[in-house]
Parts: sequence; structure tokens; C-alpha cells
Amino acid sequence: MLSGWREVTARRPWRISAKLLIISSVVTVIGFSAVCVNVMLDMRRGEEALARQTLENLATTIEADISRNIEIYDLSLKAVTSNMLLPEIASVSKPVRHLILFDHATTARHFGAIQVFDADGRLTIDASTLDPLLENRAEEDYFKVHRDNPGIGLFISRPMLFRGAYSIVLSRRISDTDGGFMGVVAGSIRFSYFHELFERLSLDPEDTITVLKRDRTIMMRRPFDLDIIGKNLGDQPVWKSDNLKVGGSFAGQGPIDGTPRLYVRSSGTSPLFVVAGKPLSSVFALWQREALRIGAVILVLALFVLGSAILLAREIGRRADAESKLEEMATTDALTGLRNRRKFDHVIDIEWRRAMRQKTQIALLMIDADHFKAYNDTFGHQAGDQVLVGIAICISDSVRRAGDCAARYGGEEFAVLLPNTSVTEAFEVAEMIRGKVQGWSDDGAGSTVSCGIASLVPTAGLDWTVLVAAADKALYAAKAGGRNQSVVANLPRLSLVA
Ligand code: GH3
Ligand code: MG
Ligand code: MG
Repeated sequence: MLSGWREVTARRPWRISAKLLIISSVVTVIGFSAVCVNVMLDMRRGEEALARQTLENLATTIEADISRNIEIYDLSLKAVTSNMLLPEIASVSKPVRHLILFDHATTARHFGAIQVFDADGRLTIDASTLDPLLENRAEEDYFKVHRDNPGIGLFISRPMLFRGAYSIVLSRRISDTDGGFMGVVAGSIRFSYFHELFERLSLDPEDTITVLKRDRTIMMRRPFDLDIIGKNLGDQPVWKSDNLKVGGSFAGQGPIDGTPRLYVRSSGTSPLFVVAGKPLSSVFALWQREALRIGAVILVLALFVLGSAILLAREIGRRADAESKLEEMATTDALTGLRNRRKFDHVIDIEWRRAMRQKTQIALLMIDADHFKAYNDTFGHQAGDQVLVGIAICISDSVRRAGDCAARYGGEEFAVLLPNTSVTEAFEVAEMIRGKVQGWSDDGAGSTVSCGIASLVPTAGLDWTVLVAAADKALYAAKAGGRNQSVVANLPRLSLVA
């Protein structure tokens, strides 16, 4: 009996394990993918950090070189501004004046010759010649700014043509001892200096180096384009002080061209700063290849795991179905399609205990074909079988509630278990069955049934065999009473039997 019960519940674990398999596979795939995505994002961040560091080092090194050269040049300008105040300067000869004012630093390759302009902008002294031509620079920015602002110090001009070469002009004010404006000393650093500086670095064609003034005027850029030199980026939405601080970085489209780059600003504090840029496609090129490779492997693995899980789950489902069918077959009577005796014993055991717990009535009908031996003898065994099938149909037609169990109890005997059913209701069911068989019999089958009915509320100490015995006894009484009738068990007598 218990083994039967185990079989009923055995298919549940199969179903659960199929679901579990799918869920665990999906969870594994999601978890594994999440880990991989995390690792790949970490790798990406690592690549970006490395590129940022390299670009910052590059920008800072360039800035240091530029600021060192500006400083050296400025020292010469400062020397001129202070030596111009020497009282002897006006009285000495031109060659001696040159020796006093200009040192050798200013003769370096990319530095223009220093020039001194008087308070009206006239060129008075030129380091490159003892007899300078007539020139007036009163309208130039680098002159006006010193005339109008005494305390400005070193002024770095916008890039311009200066003495026939593109340069940036560095200038200082010459003030007398009372701070009065005496003129301007100016010199230049040629673009060739920047070109040579950038050529020394090994850069990709798409990499950019931009040298800017603090007001964000472009002083120089690599790749070189004269049109953008001198452009002021102060009003551009990108590279503003909040997204490109000292030593800071900005990833995206820059202000000059459409290529998205990682831009990093130098970390120095000199008057010119440098922004080094590298295309994002090249920063992440290696990572992208790696991510694609790992992604493809993960995708294939995930598909494989999920595919296998689905196939396995289907197989489990098929087995569960096969088990259900087997179980169905093991509990069904082959001839009549009703429950078999084995199943009936199992059901009555369960229902009996339930009725005992819930203190409800449980009814049993025992139904037996009348004079069946004679029928068999007259019409043959196969005709007998057909009658049994007919009786089974009459029974199933009359027993329709979910908890009811109609079974072939043995040979030409049937049992119908009716949980939660009073004796009156059970009698009605019995009579319905008997009536149907009778009706069918009148149509030519020529067979009737007798019914024994018992219904009781199970009490402790009783087992269900009591109910079977009572119904059996009632059936016997029905037979004795002339057959083709339903008889209810006498329950007071039953308790004596029990
Ligand atoms: P009663 O009215 O007292 O029940 O008489 P009966 O002939 O039906 O009772 P009995 O127990 O003497 O005979 C039962 C017969 O049912 C014996 C057997 O030949 C027949 N039988 C049992 N199982 C099957 C079956 O599966 N198919 C067929 N055709 N006959 C069966
Ligand atoms: Mg019989
Ligand atoms: Mg019999």
C-alpha cells in the first residue's frame, strides 16, 4: 500500500528537478556573465587609467619643457629691463650696450632677437643688429598691454607673425624708478621650437597635443593647423575649468575635431598649459579585442549551458510523463478502465484516515453482477467481458464527484468509495447505477447488478476493512433477497461485527 503511495508522489521531484535545473542554469549563466562583465569593466577602467597616466606624464613633460624655455627667455628680458635703467647705458657705444643688455641665451635656435621699444613704440635697440630699421609697434597688443597696465609682468602674446616667422611674443615693461612707462622689451619663441619638441615624441597620427594660454587661447597644436592657432576656446562647452582642471581629464569630443578622445591636462602651473589627447578607439583597442573574444566565448558557453539545460529538462519532462503513464497503467483495470484493486486499497486507506480526522461519513458500495457465471456459460467469456465493460460505464456515469473512487474489486465485482457521503446519498448512487444497468440490460444485455451499501463515521480503533465487510454483507443480503436490488448495511449490527 505504502509503495503505491510513494509512486503517486514520485513524479513530483522529477518536475521540480526539471524546473530547478532550468533555474539553476539560468542563475549560473547570469552570475557567470555578471562576473565576466565586471572583470571586463575593470579591465576597461585599468586601460583608461593607464592611458590617462601616460597622457598626463606626456602633457606635464611638454609643459615643463615649454615653461623652462619661457623662464630662460624671461630671465634675459628681465635683465634688459633692469639694465636699461643703468645711467651709463645712454653714454656707452652701441657694441658695449649690446654686451651689457643681451646675454647668449637669446641667440638659441628658436628664440627671436630681443628688441627694445621706447614709450612711443619706436624700435630703439635690436639684439640682432647695431642699426635697427625704423619700426613702430605702438599698436601691437604686447606694447599696449604694458603701457596701460604697469603691474602685468611677463606678457605672452597670441601667436603671430613676428619678424617673418610664426611665433609667440614674450614682453616686459620697462619702468623708470618712479614706475613711469619707458617702453617695452620684447622677444619671441618661434613655432619651430614646438614643431621640434613634438617631433621628438613618438606619437600616433591621431594623437593631439594642444598648448593653451590660461585664457584658453590655442598657442600651438599638433597636428598643426594654422587656422586654429590663436582660436580662443573660452566659450566652448568642453574643456572648461570644471571638466578639465589642472591634472584632470575629459573623455569625449574635443573642441577642434569630431574624434572622441581622452584628453588629459598637464599638472603644472606655468602660464601655458598642455592638453594631450588620444582617440578613445585607440585607448580601448586592445580591451575591445579582448572583450569581444571573452564575450564570444561566454556567449557560446551560456548558449551551451542553457541549451543542455533545456534538453535535459525536456528529457526529465518526458520521463515524468512516462512515469505518469506507467502509474496510470499500474492503477487502472485494463478491461474496464476503472481503478484497479491496488489503487482502490490505497485510496480507501487515505480517505478512511481523512474521514477519521475530519469526523465525516464515508460510504462504500459493493456491486456484483447477478448470475454472471450463467451468463458466461451461455454467451461465452468475451460477451461476459463486454457486460463488465457496460457495467463499468454505468458506474462511471453515476460517480462523478472529484473524491469518489470507482474500482473493479475483482472478477465481476465492483467497489465505489464515496467520501463525505451519507447512507441515503450512497443509496441513491447505488440505485442510479443499478437502474442504469437494468435499463441497459432491458436493451438486450440481459444482466443486472446487486448493491451492498455501507456508510459510517470512522472512529479510533476501526479500520476500513470494517466498511468493506459491512458493504459486502449488505451485498450478500441483496443477493439473498432476490438480486437486482440495493441493500443498506445494518450499522448497529456492524459495530457488533467490529
Ligand atoms: P451471483 O448472482 O450469486 O453473483 O452469481 P454469479 O454467477 O455471478 O457468481 P459466481 O461467483 O458464482 O460467479 C462469478 C463468475 O464471474 C465466475 C466467472 O466465470 C465470472 N467472471 C469472473 N471474472 C470474469 C471476467 O473477467 N470476465 C468474465 N467474462 N467472467 C468473469
Ligand atoms: Mg455475481
Ligand atoms: Mg461475485
